Amino acid sequence: MTAAAQRVTIAVLEGDDIGPEVVAATVEVLEQAARIRGVAIDWEWLPSGTAAVREHGSTLPDAVVARLREIPGWILGPVGHHAYPMGDLRFRNPSGYLRKNFELYSNVRPSRSWPGVASVSDAVDLVIVRENTEGFYADRNVLDGNGEFRPDEDMVISLRVVTRRASMRVARQAFELARYRGRHRKVTAVHKANVLRRGDGLFLACCREVAAEYSDIKLDDFLVDAFAMRLITRPAEHDVIVTTNMFGDILSDASAGLVGGLGLAPGLNIGEDHAMAQAVHGSAPDISGRGIANPIAEILSGALLFGWLGRGAGLGALRDAGHDIDAAVARVLSARDRLTPDLGGTASTTALTASIVTQLDSGATEAATA
Ligand code: NAD
Repeated sequence: MTAAAQRVTIAVLEGDDIGPEVVAATVEVLEQAARIRGVAIDWEWLPSGTAAVREHGSTLPDAVVARLREIPGWILGPVGHHAYPMGDLRFRNPSGYLRKNFELYSNVRPSRSWPGVASVSDAVDLVIVRENTEGFYADRNVLDGNGEFRPDEDMVISLRVVTRRASMRVARQAFELARYRGRHRKVTAVHKANVLRRGDGLFLACCREVAAEYSDIKLDDFLVDAFAMRLITRPAEHDVIVTTNMFGDILSDASAGLVGGLGLAPGLNIGEDHAMAQAVHGSAPDISGRGIANPIAEILSGALLFGWLGRGAGLGALRDAGHDIDAAVARVLSARDRLTPDLGGTASTTALTASIVTQLDSGATEAATA
């Protein structure tokens, strides 16, 4: 297949609040990066979030779920599910539903220091691999009903699920990632096995069992409380961190804070057959509609998706396009050119996006003339 003949379909779900703003920016950047590398993308826009309830009766209509089965790669904007009415079946949490029902079992969330961006350390380069399908998440850990229940007015009981299957597969993902180019062949398991002796004990035992299959990778482990401090005080020492669902959620926001904030924190939800790009941040209702959301986290999530789509031989050009996006973002941040207010600038979402596209174009021109 020639590069020019390559086409791929990517599904797009905008989510809520700033979702449509950062997703539009992401599609613009990904489209251009793919075009430069000779890949055409057919964007399939599917309804999601509160806006979809009005027209389709659900935040995640069944027809959308059915269509997603046929498309390997998706982009999901942040969803404002905390504002969804409790108990109203029209308001599924699209993020949780898709992670659970498509078995997107690992949520990969990298954090790195960027030149030009104030950071606790200038040598942060770590990845949190978070279990994504069970744990303490009420919408994920039972077949029917909800993992939180309230026997009386003054009591709530929450279930937490840890299984061998989920722990083994997320641990394997972490060890595979530790072998990637640029990584340091080190995995840290983070847990609370001193108190949650059975649940986190099982998770840790699975990490150790997987470690035995990877003699080239070093495994260490920490209790989550001690690790939270190490993450802040010695961030440059960490490489790949594997942990359960809620610990990973919390630690990845903390690691975003180490390197410039949520506007720079990307994520990819990975399963066997599907992957979903999704920034770490939420739907930021406080800045929604003002045109100042930082699109970089969602754009970098899209670059991770390109890496996943390009992992086989067929779409290798997309992997290169993902690297081009990283490089263009690095140049924009380093030049402090048209940054959004969260990064200390005064630019709009669209101006920052245009800046990244310009950098992509000039990177392509330089490569062509080199
Ligand atoms: P949030 O991440 O939306 O916002 C936290 C703070 O970070 C806010 O001050 C916000 O303005 C800022 N922020 C976040 N993203 C930004 C961006 N791209 N550019 C600039 N500033 C940004 O967290 P929250 O306020 O706790 O949650 C809001 C909603 O998002 C809730 O309904 C929550 O349930 C949901 N949520 C969704 C996801 C997801 O879809 N992945 C993740 C977390 C929270």
